[in-house]
Amino acid sequence: MFDSLTDSFTSAIKKIRFHDDEKALKKALGELKKSLLKADVHHGVVRNLIAEVEHKTKSAGIGKDQFLDAMRETLYAILKVEGNQGFVFAANPPTVILMTGLQGSGKTTTTGKLAVFLKEQKKKKVLIIAADLQRLAAVEQLRQITEKIEVDLHADEAATPVEVVKAGLEKAKANLYDVVLIDTAGRLAIDEALMDELKAVRDAANPSEIFYVADSMTGQDAVRTASSFKEQIGIDGVILSKYDGDAKGGVALGLASQVNVPLRFIGSGEKMEDLEIFLPDRIVNRLMGFGDIEGLAERTANVIDEKKAKEISRKIKKGKFNFNDFLEQMEQMKKMGSMKSIMGMIPGMGDMSKALKDFDMENSKEIVQIKSMVSSMTKKEREDPDLLNNSRKMRIAAGCGMTQVEVNRVLKQFKNAAKMAKKFSGKKGMKDLQAMMGQMKGGGFPR
Ligand code: GDP
Repeated sequence: MFDSLTDSFTSAIKKIRFHDDEKALKKALGELKKSLLKADVHHGVVRNLIAEVEHKTKSAGIGKDQFLDAMRETLYAILKVEGNQGFVFAANPPTVILMTGLQGSGKTTTTGKLAVFLKEQKKKKVLIIAADLQRLAAVEQLRQITEKIEVDLHADEAATPVEVVKAGLEKAKANLYDVVLIDTAGRLAIDEALMDELKAVRDAANPSEIFYVADSMTGQDAVRTASSFKEQIGIDGVILSKYDGDAKGGVALGLASQVNVPLRFIGSGEKMEDLEIFLPDRIVNRLMGFGDIEGLAERTANVIDEKKAKEISRKIKKGKFNFNDFLEQMEQMKKMGSMKSIMGMIPGMGDMSKALKDFDMENSKEIVQIKSMVSSMTKKEREDPDLLNNSRKMRIAAGCGMTQVEVNRVLKQFKNAAKMAKKFSGKKGMKDLQAMMGQMKGGGFPR
């Protein structure tokens, strides 16, 4: 397993104690080089990167800030490949995208995520075509995904991939779909049969763009495979899946510099919402451990209904936040995506995200218990838990598999939390919060 670049960068930066001399710079560069190689970045890329950082730092005058600036600029220059612009719509709809990648790379999941992104954020009518007929389970998987995200699917297990694609495209044109995503066959490794099939599908589909889904966890292998796909099929963009894993940065640098193909999106979790547009400057910030406050704000804005948010904030201020609101908030949280992908965006929380690797907000034991406890309460009781007498508490405890003591503890915690929230929502509380956010934003890093 490769080390995460964020972790190694952060530790390299922490180790640099500059006394403004060349010896200190050499040490820092040595540390950086070690981190990059450990993260499976190609040695040629590492060599150039180190030389560039050294040159930039020296010309700015050796110092910690200059070193960080040089690192930031160099990483940005590598990741910024012409065409890093998320999704591009064709002049004449439908925009047809061929989704390619090896088996297990996350291609099918990513196709679903992209459909959700287009449907929810761009308000587009999307059709998915199941052209991965190699693995029959793949069609079934896609069927389940499309049902869940409520996106239309064209599938026909009895046809050939080319036939499915042709029929699907006709359907898309006749029914005025804006975007068609074609899920193609994947194999465990590249072979001639796969490439021949992909070429035939590509020629039948005449796609607007071809996306290649690369698994971040596979390091240099992903880079090699992407190069092959680029040579043989031609690819217009890469979507990096499993970016929430441990391997992160190395492969992003490799794909951008060695394959010279723009990264378009990153997948950062197993949920359908865990897809983000790849923005080089934000990724550089995250790689260097400075988080991505803007990304976090956008993700929140996409999910949160403004009117609802105001109503909730009014309730909090009055100390009236109740269990009904709690259930509703939990539903909203679900839409934000996995906890780990969110934590990675908060400055200084990169380390925490590791600890949260297996923490699943929705399914954590406590949350499931609280949810089942709340569902055993009547609507009136959720608004005012003080209505609960002992016998009601006993029934509720029995209903959700908790003891009465536990029910009492949760009720008390909730009351305390509501009090705290009320306190923080006052004018002074807002000031404290703003000061805290200001400090986070500064991050000690000049933009
Ligand atoms: P395919 O064979 O390329 O179609 O791969 P799948 O879409 O079936 O994905 C393989 C596995 O990777 C599944 O268990 C997915 O849930 C998982 N996966 C896909 N994308 C991501 C991601 O961005 N993060 C994480 N953690 N898992 C992912």
